[in-house]
Amino acid sequence: MPYLCGSMHKSGFISIVGKPNVGKSTLLNAFIGEELSIVNPKAQTTRHRIKGILNHDDYQIIFSDTPGIMKSAYKLHDRMLKAVNETFEDADLVLFVTEVKDRTIEEELRTRLMKLEVPLYVIINKVDTSDQEGVEEASKHWQELLNPKSVFPISALHKFYVDVLLQNIVDGLPEGPAYYGKDDELSDRNTRFFVSEFIRERVLHLYQKEVPYAIEVIVTDYKESETIDRIYTTIYCERESQKAILLGHHGAAIKKLGVESRKKIEELVGKQVYLELTVKVADDWRNDDRHLRNFGYDH
Ligand code: GDP
Ligand code: MG
Repeated sequence: MPYLCGSMHKSGFISIVGKPNVGKSTLLNAFIGEELSIVNPKAQTTRHRIKGILNHDDYQIIFSDTPGIMKSAYKLHDRMLKAVNETFEDADLVLFVTEVKDRTIEEELRTRLMKLEVPLYVIINKVDTSDQEGVEEASKHWQELLNPKSVFPISALHKFYVDVLLQNIVDGLPEGPAYYGKDDELSDRNTRFFVSEFIRERVLHLYQKEVPYAIEVIVTDYKESETIDRIYTTIYCERESQKAILLGHHGAAIKKLGVESRKKIEELVGKQVYLELTVKVADDWRNDDRHLRNFGYDH
């Protein structure tokens, strides 16, 4: 067979949307197989539009895990909603993720999904928490409410039916090039982004109450060398009282945060890391346009 053409290469952009806590990040991680976005029992942890890239010889899929849809209590949330809307515009397919026991959807999102010009899949997640009857009822409900191209009951956590869903997605992908290099690029966000995400994730684990939601982590400098990366970061919080909590008694809390974050970053970059954490108060950053711009929310 001398002139057998190489198989067609496919690529596409896929938006994952849905309420907080339904399992969007877990699903993305199940697809990609790497801990790309933060999974945490606390809601609303994914504030950025994170893209994960799934590479295969014959295809490339670029996923975006959008923030959960929520009422806009802060300006920040308006921007998140805007980011959610924008992900629809460059998508080849939209996955609306819901969990098996929930039958509700915000009217604004429902209207938006009904107007989509690209295919919509409804993903009913967490079927491990339901019986067959519950799954069937949910499928029927979403089929009638959103008229999607397909409904997939899955368990992202237990990777149940995720492979079938992925195969279906790949089958429907258009022919296209690899938009991102296939060798080293797990994500189009750079290492700095993952550094700030790792620190934020550690903050979520180590601190209680409002502190995790009041902070933003900025990498101010990143000096790379053969043997060691020197990373300088600033953690912004909203009030002096939060700064005190972040630092802890004699700095014990921030030290722990530094050690744990450094370990994760060292795993990522594969070499020794020097990590410096500075805590600053930026008054009420969530309502301040200038701060939001500096933090990269001006999508
Ligand atoms: P997101 O806010 O939509 O990104 O949700 P996450 O991916 O952060 O998941 C929220 C919680 O649901 C986490 O505690 C997950 O472990 C859990 N979860 C995700 N998928 C499943 C699933 O298939 N079954 C069960 N029982 N729990 C799940
Ligand atoms: Mg998430």
